[in-house]
Order: sequence, then structure tokens, then C-alpha cells
Amino acid sequence: MPVSQRPVRAGIVVTGTEVLTGRISDRNGPWLAERLGELGVEVSHIVCVGDRAPDLRAALGFLADVGVELIVTSGGLGPTADDLTAEVVGEFAGRELVLDEAMEERIAEILAGFARRFRFDAEALREANRKQALVPEGATAIDPAGTAPGLVVPTDGPTVIVLPGPPRELKAMWPEALATDAARSAMAKVTPIHTDTLRIFGIPESELAKSLREIEGDLDLAPLEITTCLRRAELEIDVRYRDGAEGVAKGLLDELADRFERYVFSRDGSTIDQQIASLLADRRIGIAESETAGLLAARLTEIPGSSAYMAGGVVAYSNEAKRELLDVPEELLERHGAVSPEVAEAMADGALARFHADVGVAITGIAGPGGGTDEKPVGYVCICVKLASGEIVARDPVLPGDRAEIRDRSTTVAMHLVRRLLRGEDFPL
Ligand code: ATP
Ligand code: MG
Repeated sequence: MPVSQRPVRAGIVVTGTEVLTGRISDRNGPWLAERLGELGVEVSHIVCVGDRAPDLRAALGFLADVGVELIVTSGGLGPTADDLTAEVVGEFAGRELVLDEAMEERIAEILAGFARRFRFDAEALREANRKQALVPEGATAIDPAGTAPGLVVPTDGPTVIVLPGPPRELKAMWPEALATDAARSAMAKVTPIHTDTLRIFGIPESELAKSLREIEGDLDLAPLEITTCLRRAELEIDVRYRDGAEGVAKGLLDELADRFERYVFSRDGSTIDQQIASLLADRRIGIAESETAGLLAARLTEIPGSSAYMAGGVVAYSNEAKRELLDVPEELLERHGAVSPEVAEAMADGALARFHADVGVAITGIAGPGGGTDEKPVGYVCICVKLASGEIVARDPVLPGDRAEIRDRSTTVAMHLVRRLLRGEDFPL
């Protein structure tokens, strides 16, 4: 495409030896990439470097060579010696560090509050934090959400937005950083981008790939950026496009929705978790979990306001617990085994009764890696969703993955069975 139509590009530099070594996982790079993507900025790279000046310098140089208009860095703005981002970015921009007195005052005020609360020595804190008020000449300082101010630094090449490492602070400071003149001018040529998301449950990724190939025969998909991703046992298709390609995007999504009608559960961006929350609205749900040991209860209660419908959950891992807490008959356990459709249903009955619930959900299964047999291999999971009125949807799939994946996927299958039962739909998975 002609240069004038080239999308505005950005690179992200995540700093921190704790992230590089894998001790903590990066929550800033993905978050920034999503925000930039929503704005229509194309992210070329997320680079992770340790707290070493030469490596940070090299990362900035690399992204400048790639030709990005914007670089966003996270981390290394604190008061300690390994916090060196401001200094390195200043050097990269060819700008001296100068003391921003207003910022020094601002940080001093924040620290005085800390010192009072935690009985620290205010002067020592102030001394340690003086370096945080050193700002590259000509840069704009962003008000701290913690104690570290952010920076927006113009350079001959890309504009550099410098944000602190703690995710809460980085997120809080992002809007102000974007609103600065230097950030605005770096992004002046951004054309808005639209994203439509389709979510599908119950078909393999290969089916989707096949359909996309077939559709491509009739429809020129070139104006679209299509990303498919398998997430928590669901398929997510993101279609991104610029103004003018709405028709192609709609054509593609309509065709996919048509082909996978029964499996498409979301076209408006809503997740299964949000849908379950609104379907449950004025009902009470009770949970009985063996294999997932509380994961489904935790998942349902991640949504604020879930106390309106979540009655409670029982973790019944042992046979004893299944008998005593859920009144699963001993005879069923002996005859069919703890992982069986019969026991799953009895557990759902137990949950309905114990919690005086309208909807009961039970999960029992073999998460592995041990414990599988030919008849009931690792990944064999029995899930039952039952209404107090007696209607029931149950499945006993063999789920792929390792222990953690099998346990997580079990909760996803349970969520989808709840959705189908509450919507009065049922068909084979
Ligand atoms: P501080 O003043 O807190 O030191 P900082 O800007 O120097 O701020 P870092 O020292 O890089 O930030 O990180 C501080 C803490 O923030 C880390 O120990 C970690 O807990 C968290 N953190 C930093 N970067 C990330 C990241 N990319 N993802 C998740 N957490 C992060
Ligand atoms: Mg630090």
C-alpha cells in the first residue's frame, strides 16, 4: 500500500528482570497492545528486557530502526538503582535530565502521606525519591498514580511514553499520557479501526479454517485482518477493518454465523460468563464440584453482583463428601464409580436440594495425569446441569489438555450447558 496509508505503528518495551526471568508474568505488554489496537495503532513488537541499561538502549534502538511512530515502556521508574528507564530514554532522545521542581513537590506531598501512615522517616524517603523528579528536558511529566511520574518524551524518531511497572499505576496513567501533545502528534495519522468478535463453542479450529478457505473463494477478504484464537475451549474470531470495509466484514461474519449457527454463542462481544450472569438474573444457582474443586464457583463469582444469583457451592472431592454433603447414594458410587453420569446427576440433585436452588450444576471427572483407565481415560468428565423443575442437560466428554486445562475446560463446558438449558436449547455438542 502507498506510504501515506501505512498504519501508524508502535512498539512496547516491558522492562523488569522479574518479568524476563519468568518470576512474574507480563500484564502490561498485552494490556497496552490491546489499548493501542483499539485505537487503530498496529503494534509491531513487544520486547521484554531486564533491568540493564545497555539492553534497554538496544530495545529502543531496535524499535526506532523498525520505524515505529510510538514506543511505550513499562517499569523501571522507581527510586532504586535498578530503576533506570528515565535516564536511558533521556539519553536515547538526546535530552539532559533536569529536575522538575513542581514534580519534586508533588512527589514529596505523596511521600509525606506515606511517611505519616507508615511512620517512615520523611526526609530519607524524599532523598531516595528525588531522582524520580528528574525529567528529560522538553519531556512532559505525567502525574503519578503511585509515586513514580510517567514521561512523554519526543525524539527525532518515535515519541516515547514511559510508564511505571505496577499494572494499576500504568493503567491509571495511560489516558493522561495519550492526551499529551507529543503522543497526539505521533498518532495524528491513525485511522480508526473496527473490531467485530464472533465466539463459537463446540467446533474444532480446523473446521473454522476450512470454512474461511471456502469463503475466501467467493469473497475478497483482503481488507480484513482475521485472527482466530482458541481460548478456554472456545474459538474466538476477531475481524478488524478500517472504514469502508464494513460490508466485507459483515458478509464474512454472516456467512460464518450461518455455517456454524448452533455453535455461535456471541456476536456482540459478550463472553459466556457475562451471558450466564444475565441468564441467571433472578434464579438461584447451586454448584457441586469434585474434579474442579471450586473453579466453577470461583468463575461464576468473578462477576460483580453475582451474589444476586449465586447460592453456594460444595467441593465434594472424596466419596465420603459426595455422600455426606450431597446425599449421593452409596449404591450409585459403587455401581457406576465417582466419575459417572449417574453420580454427576445425583450431585446436581444434591446441590439443588442443599441450596434450595433453581439451577444445580455438578462436575466430576478425571483431570489426571494419573487415574485414567481404558474405559474412563484422563480428561473424561461428567457434567450435569439440572433445573429444580427436573429439566436436564448432561454431557460426558473426554476433554483434551493437561490437568490445568482439563479442569478449566470443564468449567467452560458447564457454563455452556447452563446457557443451553436456560435458553431451552439442546443439541449434541
Ligand atoms: P516502583 O516504583 O514500584 O519500583 P517501577 O516503575 O520501578 O515502579 P518496576 O520496579 O519495574 O516498576 O516494577 C515494580 C513492580 O510492579 C514489580 O515488582 C511487579 O510486581 C510489578 N510489575 C512491573 N512490571 C510488570 C509487568 N510487566 N507485569 C506485571 N507486573 C509488573
Ligand atoms: Mg522499581
